Amino acid sequence: MFYSTSTLTALIIFLSVSSFAASPHLVSLNQDQAKSRYEESQKTEVWTPVPAKIEAVQGKAPSDAVVLFNGSGLESWVNQNGKPAQWESSPYALTIKPGEGDISTKQSFCDVQLHIEWRSAREDEKSGQNKANSGIFLQNHYEVQMLDSYTNTTYVNGQAGAVYKQFIPLVNASRPAQEWQSYDIIFTAPRFEDNKLVSPAFLTVLHNGVLVQNHVELAGQTQWIGDAKYHPHGCLPIKLQDHGSANSFRNIWVREL
Ligand code: MG
Repeated sequence: MFYSTSTLTALIIFLSVSSFAASPHLVSLNQDQAKSRYEESQKTEVWTPVPAKIEAVQGKAPSDAVVLFNGSGLESWVNQNGKPAQWESSPYALTIKPGEGDISTKQSFCDVQLHIEWRSAREDEKSGQNKANSGIFLQNHYEVQMLDSYTNTTYVNGQAGAVYKQFIPLVNASRPAQEWQSYDIIFTAPRFEDNKLVSPAFLTVLHNGVLVQNHVELAGQTQWIGDAKYHPHGCLPIKLQDHGSANSFRNIWVREL
């Protein structure tokens, strides 16, 4: 590789000045030594592949995300019979119509990064698992619990931020009912080959920006009764739960990984 005299001179000056405080012996590098060190440094540089350039504007879905709800309607969602979802949609929020049942995305997903904002209905008369319960299910089967857990006692592997019946959240980062909250979720889908599990699902969850699940390894599909088990499947929709409370959602987006 050819170096002009001026480049090497500049390099020697740079190495001398930048290294002076920590490594005074480098001040005495000659031209050959400086060239050698520069070439050594190049051996650990990686230039490809170049990451795709995306737009990541504060408060907006990244430009490479699939937007599932941003106030423009429920066209991305269906009910459990495959018919158009009938929850209430406004420009500001999507709200559960209790009794209408769960809704799922039309699109199926495997590994994802998911963002969702949610707001508990105010239900002072309710308690435990009945207090503003909902949930988001990755691949229809793996639930990150939503609940009014601000001052509400219940089993801790069923409070907000829990992987339901599998993992207790690391902390309770809940806000009061009627305040908007967020989940940021990284989901690694389970892998199956010949109808056998070859790699389990993993979940990382941030609740209101706070880490509550750190790459936990799921034991299987969410169960209310009994132990979690895996049943082979491919990519599947994301599901929101109707548990009888009029919770709301907004700014739902997902990035396929
Ligand atoms: Mg739930």
